[in-house]
Amino acid sequence: MAKKQVLDKETAFLQNERSQVLSELENLRSAMLNEVDTEPDEGDAEIFEREKTAALIAVLERRLQDIEHALRAIEKGQYGTCERCGNPIEPGRLEVKPDAILCMNCQREVEAINKRNRGRTPTRW
Ligand SMILES: [Zn+2]
Repeated sequence: MAKKQVLDKETAFLQNERSQVLSELENLRSAMLNEVDTEPDEGDAEIFEREKTAALIAVLERRLQDIEHALRAIEKGQYGTCERCGNPIEPGRLEVKPDAILCMNCQREVEAINKRNRGRTPTRW
């Protein structure tokens, strides 16, 4: 496939993905708002549900950022190039994760760094 065709396909995929994530976010956010109006003395189960919804929203927001990042990279003609080391991202990796902005090596390194830092981030409680 020609590069242009690949990019068109990725763009369509990412835009579709983005609208799905956006509508899901909207659903979750309105679910959160509705739950605020329910019983003032919520049971543990409901609080747990709220926490789960909030966590899901956070995941989707991250995902949305990744998608928009990838779309911008396509616009700038940098799609498929690792943002950290500048090497091309493995084509197989882009197939499973079209919004990847890092090559496999950098992704592993970044994840390792994040894991090390996790203990230091202050928790809410
Ligand atoms: Zn890299």
